[in-house]
Amino acid sequence: MQPSARHPCFALLAVAVAAMASAGLCRAADDARLKQRAEMVSEIAAIDAGAGVPNRNHGIAPGVLSVMGQVPRHEFVPDPQKPHAYENRPLPIGHGQTISQPYIVALMTDLLRVQPGDSVLEIGTGSGYQAAVLSQLARAVYTIEIIEPLGRQACERLQRLAYRQVACKVGDGYYGWDEHAPYDAIVVTAAASHVPPPLIRQLKPGGRMVIPVGAQFLTQYLLLVEKSADGSVSTRQILPVRFVPLVGKH
Ligand code: SAH
Repeated sequence: MQPSARHPCFALLAVAVAAMASAGLCRAADDARLKQRAEMVSEIAAIDAGAGVPNRNHGIAPGVLSVMGQVPRHEFVPDPQKPHAYENRPLPIGHGQTISQPYIVALMTDLLRVQPGDSVLEIGTGSGYQAAVLSQLARAVYTIEIIEPLGRQACERLQRLAYRQVACKVGDGYYGWDEHAPYDAIVVTAAASHVPPPLIRQLKPGGRMVIPVGAQFLTQYLLLVEKSADGSVSTRQILPVRFVPLVGKH
């Protein structure tokens, strides 16, 4: 009997060919994104080399750049934004919020000087991207988002992408997350009018916090807050930035 279009083997063959074709397409898309990510990392390194950010006597650490080259930013943005995922700019993620510019994510991550055993707290989960980046450098990342649907979506995404070291919750991050405190590093990804005292309390002696401070439409500064071994706190201005505001009833 000749194989015919109705023959079960033919149908199987057709499925196999379609699967191979789509696997090929997926690989091509993955390769393209790998290349775009590598270009994004080169751009971040070039900006960093030329930026002359005061109060910093080194560039962004190679380990941080390497993680920026691995985390799939396109998975953290809505479909219409995917073609722009590897451009060095913030992108809308819904609910009036944004995923931060990759250079700023890299800079903030670098300023935290995260070590492999560290426990890190993030305020402002947003898309979950910054949490995913931090989780590749730390032991554990705890992240809090105030907008429930965003927080839920980010948590599901982080689980789907197997970022298992990240724990999320919905709430007002101004008060931190007492249950898992103290933290080696704290990052706030929304601009506050002042450094929240509960976050200073939840920082370990020797720990570092990076936080944008300033009013919404005025100049905000990225601050590096360091708590020394004796518990005293010092603050350094790093550079002017623009973030969405830290909201809540605090
Ligand atoms: N880190 C995010 C960028 C988030 S933008 C990312 O990688 O995508 C800042 C986020 O902070 C927004 O999602 C906003 O809803 C959230 N936010 C604002 N005020 C907050 C608060 N008091 N507690 C927790 N999250 C807050």
